[in-house]
Amino acid sequence: MTATKSWSGSEYWGLGYDFDPQWLLTPVQQKLQSNLIEICASVLRPNAIESDRHLIYPRRNFEALASLGLLGLFVPKAWGGLGENHVCAAMVVETIARYGCPSTAMCYTMHLGATAAALFRAHDSPELQQLLKRLDRNVLIGTLSYSDPETGSHFWYPVSSKAERTLHGWQVSKKASWTTSAGFADWYIVQTTSPEFDGNYSDLSCFLIYADEVQAEPHKWDAMGLRGNQSGTLHVDGVTVPIDRMIGPKSDGIASNDEIVDPFFLLCSSACWNGIAMGAIDIAKRHVTRKKHADVGMRVADYPTIQDYFGEAIIDTNACRSFTFSMGKLMDDLTQNCDWSIHQDLTALPRSTYLPWYWQIKFSAAKNVAQVCDKMLHSCGGSGFKKDMEIERYLRDGKAGWVMGPTNEVLRQFVGKLALLGFESLDYWNQQVNDRVLHNEVKKLDAAGKRKLAEQLLAQAAAAEVPEKTLASGAA
Ligand SMILES: Cc1cc2nc3c(=O)[nH]c(=O)nc-3n(C[C@H](O)[C@H](O)[C@H](O)COP(=O)(O)OP(=O)(O)OC[C@H]3O[C@@H](n4cnc5c(N)ncnc54)[C@H](O)[C@@H]3O)c2cc1C
Repeated sequence: MTATKSWSGSEYWGLGYDFDPQWLLTPVQQKLQSNLIEICASVLRPNAIESDRHLIYPRRNFEALASLGLLGLFVPKAWGGLGENHVCAAMVVETIARYGCPSTAMCYTMHLGATAAALFRAHDSPELQQLLKRLDRNVLIGTLSYSDPETGSHFWYPVSSKAERTLHGWQVSKKASWTTSAGFADWYIVQTTSPEFDGNYSDLSCFLIYADEVQAEPHKWDAMGLRGNQSGTLHVDGVTVPIDRMIGPKSDGIASNDEIVDPFFLLCSSACWNGIAMGAIDIAKRHVTRKKHADVGMRVADYPTIQDYFGEAIIDTNACRSFTFSMGKLMDDLTQNCDWSIHQDLTALPRSTYLPWYWQIKFSAAKNVAQVCDKMLHSCGGSGFKKDMEIERYLRDGKAGWVMGPTNEVLRQFVGKLALLGFESLDYWNQQVNDRVLHNEVKKLDAAGKRKLAEQLLAQAAAAEVPEKTLASGAA
């Protein structure tokens, strides 16, 4: 028999466990989930309303999460964490978004991404280990700072950043256009071009930066949804940090992105969008089963149109949830249930092989949440349009899914291009020449145009060769 879902000691007013994929969770994880739902009822949800209204960063919600040990969710037990796995991470984020606070769920997603990036290279780093052991005890919130003001949602291309070796460590410069928890987090994983940068933007490195080393502008944050998550700008202004603050070896950025940052962000953010969709369904269910039309003696829930809205929303959302959880399960299988010791071998990158699958779960979850919230608002009529029902907040929060990098426009193009033209065609760092486009454009020029272009190209080639020749003759 399915257990009864409890909310502040009473039966939950939304959908019960019979619409949740509980069979994917261990008994320990199910217990964690029910404890978390109670904390959502008593702490996270009341705070979510205040966070949204007054742009308040949800630190108090993080304190409640820390009381369950959730900041160290997949920190190994030997280091004081819960030692949990990827499926559990997806469940926790979904639960926070659905019953508690979507802004907190997104801040927590970034915290998990940063924690994973640290765990990936913590095996021989006392600096990272001392941080990871204190996450819950000291409520130390982490986040990922990647997006660059010059390259928009191409967050893998940090042109406004650099790192240089100095006598005392690394001098790190980073300008980020968006960073969840900016100015509120206790520690940041930032990505820059590597020291001794030679123009190759695929050569990236990651650093651990603490709160007192960043400049943020939380007063400028004001957005349509996820208003508590404070995704403002971040500036690390040529700060010198000790040598052990580089995470992993120099040039580890691609490995860290493909193995950790992308898979964890895409898994957990998908769970966040799925949680928001389920949260909207719950709220709408409560309303339509109570609201009655006296003239026909029917509740809103008695109209077949409304039943159809719910049927479709539940089926579509459960397809996205199953897809997301199946990727979590795959990550568990690939890593012996999230055993971080496999990364003592720096070449062990089992998650990264499935990158196109993580793109797909995020695309489908972010697409679905907007559609479902819209239909649930329609189900509630004008009453849903008012703030007190909370459905309009879920709708606004869910809208962040499509536009957060990698955006859904970028993701569907990645998947289509990969399928049709192969991996090289994705050209993340703008390095591959598209001969078809080049020749097609040149074909349009007449003889004079071709000559002019040729002269320009020869001049550019000569200019590019000058330093090389000077260097060569100097060396001789
Ligand atoms: C709530 C929220 C929280 C965030 N938190 C973080 C964080 O913690 N850390 C972080 O690093 N970043 C974060 N971001 C930033 C995010 O990852 C993106 O970088 C950001 O949303 C991009 O916004 P933009 O205005 O620069 O979009 P642009 O990149 O300018 O996009 C504008 C439009 O162009 C489209 N487009 C862009 N490139 C292509 C392409 N190659 N092909 C086709 N279409 C394209 C986009 O899909 C979009 O429709 C956050 C964003 C949001 C909304």
